[in-house]
Amino acid sequence: MKNNSCDNTLCLISDGEVRLLPDGGGGNLILCRACYQHEINFRGYRNRNLEAGEQFPTPEWKALEVYGPGVNVEHEDFPMEEWKYAVACGDTSIGYVEWVKHQEEVERCEPSN
Ligand SMILES: [Zn+2]
Repeated sequence: MKNNSCDNTLCLISDGEVRLLPDGGGGNLILCRACYQHEINFRGYRNRNLEAGEQFPTPEWKALEVYGPGVNVEHEDFPMEEWKYAVACGDTSIGYVEWVKHQEEVERCEPSN
């Protein structure tokens, strides 16, 4: 079973909701519920051997940004691929819709010739 939106392969359902989980290094993982739980369990295990300041973040599922609903309508000037790249690089952790709004504002502020 593989959720195509999910970065991992331990998915239980193919079209379940996926959310953004900070990877602790400035980027984000896009994970379904099952893969999130696996990652959190793994991090909990790893954190036992790490100093407080070096531990992986283990946020609750409900605290994570949803990747999906509202994301289906793609803005022609700001393709979803671009946003996904920004998320993967850790440049942003906001949802696609919010990101588009932000991009539009940035564009408006730039001097036009
Ligand atoms: Zn998954």
